[in-house]
Amino acid sequence: MNPTILDFKRASRAMTDSIRSGPHAGRLMRTLCREFGPRPPASDGMRRAQEFLQREWSAFGAATVHAEAVSFDGWQEGDTEVAMTAPVRHRFEGIQAIHSKSGIVEAPLADGGNLAFSDLQKLGNLARGSILLVNGNQITGGQFEPLQKRISLAEALGAIAVLVVGWHPTLPLILFLNRARIPVIGLAIETAKTLRRWLNRKPIRMRIRTEGRTKRVTCRNLIGELGPTAAGALDHRRRDEVGQRRSFRSGGTATEVIVACAHLDCFYLSPAAMDNTSGVVTMTEVARALAPFQKHFVRTLRFIAFTGEEYGYGGSKEYVRAHADELDRVRFVLSMDCMFESTAQGVAVMGAPKLRNYIANGLRRSHPRVEVRNLFCMSSDYLPFLLAGVPAGRPADWRNSFPSWTHTVLDTEEKVPARWLKSNADVCANILLRMLTDPKPLPSQRKSPEEVQKLVVRENAAEPLRWQVLLPS
Ligand SMILES: [Zn+2]
Repeated sequence: MNPTILDFKRASRAMTDSIRSGPHAGRLMRTLCREFGPRPPASDGMRRAQEFLQREWSAFGAATVHAEAVSFDGWQEGDTEVAMTAPVRHRFEGIQAIHSKSGIVEAPLADGGNLAFSDLQKLGNLARGSILLVNGNQITGGQFEPLQKRISLAEALGAIAVLVVGWHPTLPLILFLNRARIPVIGLAIETAKTLRRWLNRKPIRMRIRTEGRTKRVTCRNLIGELGPTAAGALDHRRRDEVGQRRSFRSGGTATEVIVACAHLDCFYLSPAAMDNTSGVVTMTEVARALAPFQKHFVRTLRFIAFTGEEYGYGGSKEYVRAHADELDRVRFVLSMDCMFESTAQGVAVMGAPKLRNYIANGLRRSHPRVEVRNLFCMSSDYLPFLLAGVPAGRPADWRNSFPSWTHTVLDTEEKVPARWLKSNADVCANILLRMLTDPKPLPSQRKSPEEVQKLVVRENAAEPLRWQVLLPS
């Protein structure tokens, strides 16, 4: 395929028009939320949503749409019971944390606060043999304190179960842990307040019962391409029927690759409209809008609906491992996770200042203004790429307006209007159109393992990474 000269401004305008006036964003959001139900990895909902997307992508001309199998630890949900047994009997709502232990325990409740040094001093020996109430993810002194760290600390202190305060006033939160040898339960803020009020007056006893369990699942990443991929297309199609995991070496073309990704999976209880149907719809609309221009691409666009993001980046981790031999050719990864109003006005680029300038320059005339910042973060599927040295970015919320109902049953479709998805898609499509059609080399360099290490140390990320991501499950 020979790229031909593109009138960039015209193409960009046409793309914006097609995104803004197209009927697809709202339709995709409705279909994905209503027709298939929640999409935990390896569920029927996930499988049907993937089939639906596969049809959508093929319909707008994506090539080599195929699935790659991934195995990781998923979750078989079960009942959770949280009750105060003394001084009075009262039941509370709670949700067992993923990968925490099942069982029945009854013990006194102790308040562990943030499990910071001062809390530990106050606690003394009280934690041993007790059910410990602790606050959820925290920023302490500007440092992100991962929940996993505090759970492991609670275990070391001899707690027999942990109740974790979530971030929603009235709804308990579903939490993900790499592992816990004791039951761990998410609570609503109000429940924690009630327990603390009781605890300030007299000792209380709690009884908890958990029934969920970790189960190994095999699920799939769904992958499509636009642009100069023809050489590999036939080979892929022949092998697609089995959907087996395999290397992409068959592509044969040595073109550079730009990856756009969004996770399709969610927790079992969530309709997951924002987290992350919004990202999947935005990514699909970006690809649909770019498709008519693919003959002008000098780089391949590969778009991926990952599985297992909510389960420790299961799908993207495995993708990066299986595709290690082609990561040198990946120039940029744009990860779309939770698209809302303000993410259409912000982009975070991680550890790549020249690329940040390139993207900011491309967006300088956009309305409303898009602020592009350098920011190291660890929140989604771009992380395994970033740790492999591949430059990454994401639409970002600079107003701190992230809603408190994500990962709850309230993450429903009517909260995510199509215009939010369209404005996000417009920004992302414009970033990608430029990268995909720019005949000049992109100011993007893969980092060596030593450079990645330096970045991680400079950003004080070594410890949270060790707890959140690299800890074996
Ligand atoms: Zn997400």
